[in-house]
Amino acid sequence: MTLDLRSVPEFVFELLVCRWAERSWPVDDAVAVVGRQVGTAERRWDTVIVEADPEGLAARARFGADELDADLLRVVRHAPAEWAWYRDAVPDPGFPWRYVREAIDRAAARGVVERRKRGNRVEIRRIAPYPNWVERVVAVENKPDLDRSAARRLGDQLGHDVERALADEAWLATAATGERVEPALLRDLPVEAGVLAVSVGGDGRASAEAEWHAGALGPAPADRERRLVLAERVYGRGFRDHVETTRPDCRHYELRARGDALVPYCAAKERHQTQAECSGSCEAFEPEPPAWRTRGWPVEGGPGVAYRRLLARRRDRARRR
Ligand code: SF4
Repeated sequence: MTLDLRSVPEFVFELLVCRWAERSWPVDDAVAVVGRQVGTAERRWDTVIVEADPEGLAARARFGADELDADLLRVVRHAPAEWAWYRDAVPDPGFPWRYVREAIDRAAARGVVERRKRGNRVEIRRIAPYPNWVERVVAVENKPDLDRSAARRLGDQLGHDVERALADEAWLATAATGERVEPALLRDLPVEAGVLAVSVGGDGRASAEAEWHAGALGPAPADRERRLVLAERVYGRGFRDHVETTRPDCRHYELRARGDALVPYCAAKERHQTQAECSGSCEAFEPEPPAWRTRGWPVEGGPGVAYRRLLARRRDRARRR
């Protein structure tokens, strides 16, 4: 059955756009690493695509699968090849050094830096150089059913992105209607923002065509440190972490294949559920029967555990490309 993208929850549309971007984002020699609902304190995007240098991405894997936050990055990027007092290695952070020491303790516990004590002095040494793996950051807002008021609202948000240039490009993804996006809607968007028309092909996979190409946002990224923190969030979280915020332990929860994407489906509601409704307060929620978990389904644990494992495997595979 073909999926009508204009009628699916935005959550499902986002997952399809993320999977399309992971598979088909047009980059020459780079790899697309994709995250969903990632951002900064003031701005969160539906989809973020990090165009990564393949060798740099492989070198980044040396630091583990979890994101490095700003404090950990400060330590990891400045840790020297030879043992050194941490205050000689890390630039003055502009806040008390004890916070740097705490970050060193966390970094050492995660094995992303080496730490030792010489008398009263804490010394650090790197495990490997932290690579330059981020080439470009692309932000995408998803709105399957774009109308005039949504275009105005998104226009304001994308205008902010253009102004701040935190990403290198900003796009709006909307469901293809078979016709060009109305010029009136395009007028509400900043001219630098691109427009992607998303459709589902005969093989069930989502694909996207550029209706309007995005322009580069500013001559240079405004804030390289913040872009790297954003890229690390994308690396650590990916776009399949919705199993952590929905209820795969509900007996009605299913993961359905839509092309090569796996998206949540609610058997009780007989439709794709929204992320918000798939929670413990859902009136149709029913826990998995204990017997499902004890029969070793399909290897061990119930379907909910298996879904988690399946999505984690896909996320790891995407990072290793
Ligand atoms: S019944 Fe509610 S909690 Fe269970 S899968 Fe459906 S939406 Fe999610």
